Parts: sequence; C-alpha cells; structure tokens
Amino acid sequence: MKAVLFEKFQEAPKVVNVADPAPEAHGVVLKVEATGVCRSDWHGWMGHDSDIEVPHIPGHELAGVVEAVGKDVKNWKVGDRVTVPFICGCGSCSECHAGHQQVCLHQEQPGFTHWGSFAEYVPIHQADLNVVALPETMDFATAASLGCRFATSFRAVIDQGKVSAGQWVAVHGCGGVGLSAVMIASAAGANVIGVDLDPAKLALAKELGAVAAIDGKSDVVGAIKEITKGGAHVSLDALGHPATMTNSILCLRPRGKHIQVGLMLGDHATPAVPMPKIVGQEIELLGSHGTQAHRYGAMLDMVESGKLNPARLVGDKISIDAAPEALMNMDKFQSVGATVITSF
Ligand SMILES: [Zn+2]
Ligand SMILES: [Zn+2]
Repeated sequence: MKAVLFEKFQEAPKVVNVADPAPEAHGVVLKVEATGVCRSDWHGWMGHDSDIEVPHIPGHELAGVVEAVGKDVKNWKVGDRVTVPFICGCGSCSECHAGHQQVCLHQEQPGFTHWGSFAEYVPIHQADLNVVALPETMDFATAASLGCRFATSFRAVIDQGKVSAGQWVAVHGCGGVGLSAVMIASAAGANVIGVDLDPAKLALAKELGAVAAIDGKSDVVGAIKEITKGGAHVSLDALGHPATMTNSILCLRPRGKHIQVGLMLGDHATPAVPMPKIVGQEIELLGSHGTQAHRYGAMLDMVESGKLNPARLVGDKISIDAAPEALMNMDKFQSVGATVITSF
C-alpha cells in the first residue's frame, strides 16, 4: 500500500510503498477514505511522543470502509462505513470496564502506538469496542474531522465542562479544537467568547456562534472579565501554550473550570500554573483527551439533527502526495479549518 513514512524524527517524511496490514483476531483493517492532518501528528514527527518508534506512519483522524475482519469480530463486516476515536481502549482494564476508554491503561492510538492512517489501509484493534458506524448522510472528510479535535472538544465542553445554557464559556485558541468547542458550547446554549491572534479565525468563531471575539494580543483576561461581568464559568485552552493556559485560568470567575485540551509537550510540558487563584477561588483544573466510542452516538445525533455542523470545520482537501509538506508545516497555524487527505 501507499503510505507516508518517516525514518527519523524531524526528517522529511516520504510517500512509499509498504506491505498491506492484516487484521488481528479482534481487529479490523480499514480502507482509509479520509484522514485529517493534526498538530499531534506534527508533535509525533518532531519526536515529542514517547509512544512512537521509527520508521513510522502518522495519522489518527480517520474514516473509511471495513476492508478485512479478524475472526473474533462480531459487530462489523466488510463494506461497513466507519470511524474510530483516536484513543482505542483495550476492553479489559479497570478504566475500560468503567466506560472510560479515553484513559485506557493499555490504549492503542493509530499513528502513535502503531502505524496510522496516512496510508491506504490502517489496522484497528478491538474493533467491537472501538469502531463506530457512520450515519449514511455523513461524508468521509467530515467523519475524519470528528475523531480527534471535534470529539475531544465535545468531551471537554459537554462531559468535562458540563456546560449549560446561559453560562459564559471562553475558548482560547480558535484552531480546529477551539472552533469545534465554540460550535459545541454554543449549541449547548452557552455564551461563547473566542480568543485568537488571527482575525480570520475570530470571524469564523463568530459565524459558528461566538457572541464575542477577542484579539489574543490585547488584555484578554480584562476583556473577558468585563464582558462576562466577573469571569467565565468555563474556559478552555484549546491551543496548548503557557500563555493561553494562564489566560484561561485567570479569566475564570470563582469556582470556574479550566479545561486543558491543547497538548502541552516539549518545552511547554511543565508550565507555571497560577496556583493562588486556583486555591483561593476554588478553580477546577480538568484535562480532556479524546472521547469514548460509546459517546459518539450523542455527538452524531447532534450532527444529524443539525445542531452541530462539523463540515464547516473541514478546510483543504489534499492528496497523500501533499501530506508530507502539510505535516511538516502544521506548527505554523496557517490554515483555517482542518486539512484532510482525501485521495490516496
Ligand atoms: Zn488529531
Ligand atoms: Zn483498557
């Protein structure tokens, strides 16, 4: 099969031919129809993720068609249109048994713990637990865009933030994660404030439901406190940077919730946290990382009913031959909307 592979971290990936994968007994192989290019792939390529061994094929935001089925798989057959959360549970640890597959103790992540979906085919483990059927009406590029940024934002806003109608929600960073969060929190009835350095992203945040947009170079905390008359109830760092994390914590009202969604890796792995505010105002600090396959039903229902429109967040559609360049440039934040590989 054709695949994007890198031999060494930070060395340009190449489009090469490698052997087709075969399904494990409990797994399936998917024919990839669409796969998103994500900043996490860039972190992986930079060498920031200890799960990755080279040579490696990145890619974890995927949708496709079941191509081959392992002998122990009960729920899936060749030809099914499916997607998968980027964190796949093992099905047998205490977290999986509790329904928290997104923090599985033995989790598999395509494109991290094994070869991913920048390829014609990708193997998925524990298919009965992790694979999700797509609605007939959903195209593959939109489905691919759900798996990482959108599903993570859904969990951050709905399950971790427990955002409710009338609350103020601040979203720091309006890339793929942030714009998803703006859309989801708005659909939940919250008043959303988007923050970014890029006017184009702020304009899109307002189109997607934000009631206010703030230039990230301005006094962000002061502006949010003024608009919200005291601070946000829930605030997300959707970028993953010490500056946005700090603003997100400081813009909260007492007993507010900060949700860290953007990854903090490399030089940013241990940021200084404004602890006096957290103690004195009983601020909650929560992480959010992916979502479980069993929560896709709720999210897909909101898409099918028209309350959420993730297709709005799909940006450029590219071929696999353009993927190495797109991957290496992911740290430059240039694109509005997610870049998705749709031809192989
Ligand atoms: Zn991703
Ligand atoms: Zn598990």
